[in-house]
Amino acid sequence: MSAKELNEMIVEKVNSLENWMIEIRRDIHRHPEPSRSEFRTSKKVEDILKDLGVEVKTGFYNTGLTGLIRGKKKGRTLAFRFDMDALEMDEETGLDFASKNEGVMHACGHDGHTAVGLALAKILVDFKEEINGNIKLIFQPAEEDAPHGGGAKYMIQEGVLSDPDVSAAVGIHLWPALKLGEIGAKTGPMMAASDPITVEVTGKGAHASLPNLGIDPVVAAAQIVNNLQTIVSRNVDPFEQAVVTIGKFIGGTRYNTIPGRVNLEGTVRTFNEEVRDKVEKRIKQICEKTAEAMGASAEVDYSRGYPPTVNDEKMVNLAARSARDILGEDAFVDIDRPAPGGEDFAYFTKEIPSVYMWLGYSEEDKEIFPPHSPKYNFNEKALSYGVRVLSRIALNWR
Ligand SMILES: [Zn+2]
Ligand SMILES: [Zn+2]
Repeated sequence: MSAKELNEMIVEKVNSLENWMIEIRRDIHRHPEPSRSEFRTSKKVEDILKDLGVEVKTGFYNTGLTGLIRGKKKGRTLAFRFDMDALEMDEETGLDFASKNEGVMHACGHDGHTAVGLALAKILVDFKEEINGNIKLIFQPAEEDAPHGGGAKYMIQEGVLSDPDVSAAVGIHLWPALKLGEIGAKTGPMMAASDPITVEVTGKGAHASLPNLGIDPVVAAAQIVNNLQTIVSRNVDPFEQAVVTIGKFIGGTRYNTIPGRVNLEGTVRTFNEEVRDKVEKRIKQICEKTAEAMGASAEVDYSRGYPPTVNDEKMVNLAARSARDILGEDAFVDIDRPAPGGEDFAYFTKEIPSVYMWLGYSEEDKEIFPPHSPKYNFNEKALSYGVRVLSRIALNWR
C-alpha cells in the first residue's frame, strides 16, 4: 500500500471512530480516579482492549496494563505510553460530563490520552499487515504522583519494557501552548527534573503576647521562603534555568499562639544534573542556616523526583515526519525550549530512545485554561489529530 493510500485510510478510520473515542473520554472524565486508584479506568481499558482482541497484561503497579499488537512483518517493538490518573481537586468547568467524584478531576487531559490510546488500538488491529514488529500500548497509573515515584518508574521495574523487549517509546501530552492541529517536540531536554521538597521548621511554642519566651517558627519559615528566592537569582548560571517554589506553608492553630512548628512543601525544577545538585545543596544550606540564625532549626527533605525528560533525535525525526505526513507540512512545530513541568515519561527516556511530544489544543478567540486549572478543558478535535499522528508513527516504525 502506498503511503498516500495508508494516510487516507488512517484519516477515514479516525473520523469514523471519533465519536466513540469522545464518548470514552467523557466517561473517564465523569469518573476520574486519583493516582494509584485508577481501578475503574484500568478495568475499562482492559475490557475495551480485550474486545478488540489485543493481548492484555494487567497488574503493573496494580492498575497499570499493556496491550500488545503483533505486526505481520518482522521487526522490533515500539511502545506508546498513555497516563490514566486524575488530580485531587474540585472541578469548576460546568461541563455536562463534569466529574462525579467529589474532589477529583481530570485537569491534565489524561482522560483524553487514555481515549487516544484506545482509539490507536482500534486502528492498529486493522493494520497488522502493515506493522513492522510489535506495538505495545502502555496504560500507566500515577503520572501525577511524584512524591511516590510515579507510575512509569514502577511499571519499568516490573518489566513493562520486556517480553517482548521494547526498543523505543513514544509519549504524548495535550498542550495549551500549541494550536489545535499542531504537534511539537524537540531533541534533548523536553521537560524538567521535578523534585519535591519538605522543610520542617522547629521553634518553641509560646503565648502570642510573649514572643520573647518562645522561638517563632512562623517568622523563621517566612525568612526561609524569602531567602530561597536568591537561589535562582544568585546561584544559578544566568544561561541555565531553574525554578524553586514553596507551594505549601502550614503552621499554627490559633491567632494568639506561637506554634512550635511550621511545615513547608515545595518543588524544584531543573534541566540538567549539575544545576540540580547545586540547587539541592543551596536549599539545605539556606534552610538550616536561616533557621539557626533565628534560634530555630530546620530539617530539609529533598527527594529526587522525576528526572529530566530527554528526547532522542531519531525518535523526534520519526515523530516530525509522521506528523507532516498525516497532518500537513506545517503541523510539526520545532519546540525551541523545554517546559518546566515534570513528567514521569522521563523514566522511559532514560531507558530507551524516546520521544515525548505535545499535542496542541489552543484556538484563537477562545479562552484557554491550562492543565491543573479547575476550569481546564480542551477541544476534543485534538484527540483525533493525536490518533492520526500516533497511527502514522506506528506504521512508519521500522
Ligand atoms: Zn498534570
Ligand atoms: Zn499530565
